[in-house]
Amino acid sequence: MSLTYEKGFGFEGEMKERGIGLIFIISAPSGTGKTTLVREVIHRLPGLQFSVSFTTRLPRPDERDGMDYHFVSHSAFQKMVERNEFLEWAEVLGNRYGTPRPDFKKMELEGLDLILDIDTQGAKKVTKEIAQPVMIYLLPPCLRVLRERLINRGVDSLERVKFRLSHARKDMEEAYGYHYVIVNDTLEDALEKLKSIIIAERCRKGKNEILEANMKQWEEKDG
Ligand code: ADP
Ligand code: 5GP
Repeated sequence: MSLTYEKGFGFEGEMKERGIGLIFIISAPSGTGKTTLVREVIHRLPGLQFSVSFTTRLPRPDERDGMDYHFVSHSAFQKMVERNEFLEWAEVLGNRYGTPRPDFKKMELEGLDLILDIDTQGAKKVTKEIAQPVMIYLLPPCLRVLRERLINRGVDSLERVKFRLSHARKDMEEAYGYHYVIVNDTLEDALEKLKSIIIAERCRKGKNEILEANMKQWEEKDG
């Protein structure tokens, strides 16, 4: 990780303004509110970019190709797998999803962190590929609320809602392996927690750079 320091002692203030090449993984049972929360945090916190996955599933009415997902055919996806173009990929609830390999150099140069909305299988694979991703698991307040959110979202049949709920319980067990758990009860509260985690991780992982910048300033002042 390398950073340029223009503000010297004030650099830690920048942690709210820019990323430092970190990877944040956010997972949750379908319908918990990941998409909503991720869209909102990117809007509110500078220096965060959404990693647009590739998928073989069909777009939902409000989804845009290239923004929410890259929607591709099964054969196009398979070719990408064979060319080793994914950081990870997995089959989730009957469809295939894959994360493109991040361009870490570009992220550092442009002051960006990347946020990956991926399932728990994918998260495990990412930990084997890259150093220290920050893993955040989002929980629904309870099963009843999760069911309501899935029904209100209006994209699944009742049969499909049942299928998603039966998958949710087992999925939640994976949350023990994550660094953070956030309960998405009210959106504002969950958003505040997610923002705080991102800023804290930027401060923690950028610690040495802040120290070095400060030391340099001291030396320059002494000399
Ligand atoms: P996911 O990406 O986890 O599958 P979505 O972001 O699509 O979930 O959210 C599922 C539904 O729940 C959407 O209709 C969304 O507007 C709603 N929702 C998300 N977060 C909250 C919240 N904190 N309170 C109430 N409704 C929410
Ligand atoms: P949905 O179809 O509801 O958008 O997503 C279904 C599930 O696939 C969610 O749990 C979501 O996090 C996961 N997912 C989305 N993109 C990827 C990806 O690139 N890799 C993996 N492993 N899971 C993904």
